[in-house]
Amino acid sequence: MEKREKELRELLECVRKCKKCGLWKTRNKVVFGEGPINAKIMLIGQAPGKQEDKVGKPFVGRAGKLLNKLLRKAGIKRDECFITSVLKCFPPKNRKPKKQEIRKCKPYLLKQIELIRPKVIVLLGNTAVEAILGKTKLKEVRGKKFFINHMLFVPTYHPAAALRFKQLEKKIEKDLSIAKAFYELCSNHKSN
Ligand code: URA
Ligand code: SF4
Repeated sequence: MEKREKELRELLECVRKCKKCGLWKTRNKVVFGEGPINAKIMLIGQAPGKQEDKVGKPFVGRAGKLLNKLLRKAGIKRDECFITSVLKCFPPKNRKPKKQEIRKCKPYLLKQIELIRPKVIVLLGNTAVEAILGKTKLKEVRGKKFFINHMLFVPTYHPAAALRFKQLEKKIEKDLSIAKAFYELCSNHKSN
């Protein structure tokens, strides 16, 4: 097994046992995230919801169904993405993650990024934007792109927001298309 793959598994074991913030008390299953170790694209959401907590997989509820549709429209296969969230445990009643929960959980996300080394990272919603880009609000950065450590960061809306405001679907789809165009450009460069 490749070293990175082994380290990712070890990280998963570590997160499964994690009690760093209070959410371990109420979680059913840890939602580490899933996808290939060599994923060129990574998607980061906010935190697992009730459905995700039940099955231990990311984006399997209503927002996940919509995400699947938008990925398909943008020509991205879900199974080529590594999909995860800022928090790995379900916040009760789906409440917003607290600052200290984000602070305690973020090292896992950063380690996932380091091990997977995607070309593009799509930040789904404010929590992911703030966790990765700092204090910035999504509305200030949506439509912009950030190139950090050889990775392109694309901030966009969370699909759960598009469940409430349907007009956001087109915008997410567009941002996903940009992400796809970028990592395809990267792979073409490599093979030439
Ligand atoms: N919302 C998220 O941010 N992550 C999930 O896994 C599901 C819903
Ligand atoms: Fe640990 Fe993160 Fe779960 Fe909190 S949310 S218990 S920091 S894995």
